[in-house]
Amino acid sequence: MKIIAINAGSSSLKFTLFNMDNKSVIANGLFERIGIEGSNYTIKYNGEKIKEEITLNDHVDAVKILLDKLLSLNIINSLDEIDGVGHRLVHGKDKYKESCLITNEVIEDLIAFKDFAPLHNPANVLGIKAFKEVLPHVPMVGVFDTAFHQTMSEEAYLYPVPYSWYKEHGVRKYGFHGTSHRYIAKTISEVLNNDHLKIISCHVGNGGSITAIKDGKCVDTSMGFTPLAGIMMGTRSGDIDPSIITYIMEQEGLNAKEVIDILNKKSGLLGLSEISSDMRDVIAKMEEGNEQAKLAFDKYARTVTNYIASYYVLLDKADVICFTAGLGENSVPFRKKVCENLRALGIKIDDNANQVMGELKKISADDSSCLVYVVPTDEELMIALDTMKLIH
Ligand code: ADP
Repeated sequence: MKIIAINAGSSSLKFTLFNMDNKSVIANGLFERIGIEGSNYTIKYNGEKIKEEITLNDHVDAVKILLDKLLSLNIINSLDEIDGVGHRLVHGKDKYKESCLITNEVIEDLIAFKDFAPLHNPANVLGIKAFKEVLPHVPMVGVFDTAFHQTMSEEAYLYPVPYSWYKEHGVRKYGFHGTSHRYIAKTISEVLNNDHLKIISCHVGNGGSITAIKDGKCVDTSMGFTPLAGIMMGTRSGDIDPSIITYIMEQEGLNAKEVIDILNKKSGLLGLSEISSDMRDVIAKMEEGNEQAKLAFDKYARTVTNYIASYYVLLDKADVICFTAGLGENSVPFRKKVCENLRALGIKIDDNANQVMGELKKISADDSSCLVYVVPTDEELMIALDTMKLIH
């Protein structure tokens, strides 16, 4: 069985083609700058990489070219080999609690919920419509970023604001990165052969969120009404005092949207370090003795520490803390700093074991109060697995 996992953005389309018989990746790639000058695609398969500039007027063009290339490169012999298409969808509000077959109702809901994810939901619809046009008979499955977090209690997801904001306008915590956190919970439960774990899943990439999981279900998560909340991130501020927004509007003559834009795109590691949104650049400067780089690194680690500590208490201790995504999987000093910050909880890292990048590995010391693991995430595989399950 072959399944394509799709992540459609407003001007991009990422794909991974899986052979589900052995869960292996047959090919993957990216179509970029769709509808913009300089559009191009990259396809990787069999250890080869093909990159070509080509006119892509819209997502339908991208899907047609993708399928043409899969055929002409002999990656597949016929379009009939594609059994299903799984789409990463961002916002399903509180209606979508798990993945589902994509029907017209799902498409209508994605459009209706667009105010909750103005960049992502319309882009997801473009991806769905393109596949619907080009492969009309192939079943499609939607896998929502928000779905995994639907098990949170009211106490976790409500904000202490007028209740009518929730009732009338849907103001509540939704949470994101749900597919990644679900993959981490599933993987570590399999590794430890235990479905009743208390897990703190730390997805720390360019965007980042921490999730408390009990018995495979989300109890709380750090992102909120939007992905701007929670830990400090590459360019996002994470949690701040909301009064800063009106104060900066007045001081700098900006409107609310402009300030929110700065909090999304020019804050976090980039804003505080004034060096880069990429932790590799910041660590390099820190190692040269740059104080502002060190400050930004320490602050990043502190915000992650704070969430882990609060979820450790919420879960009444944890069995395992998992680090995943770009920073979580690859940054040895970042994991070390966070774990050292957690020493009051008895958490101890093994410095030798921690010398690991992008590999599933236990990194806690034997006398640590709680296991600590690096677990590489694989949202695409999770999407393909859900698709396989639902199209049968
Ligand atoms: P996205 O949220 O875009 O999927 P990723 O999960 O790929 O992001 O994370 C990308 C980020 O991970 C980079 O911006 C960088 O900060 C961090 N990163 C990746 N590799 C390393 C590394 N070796 N050391 C430190 N940070 C890293």
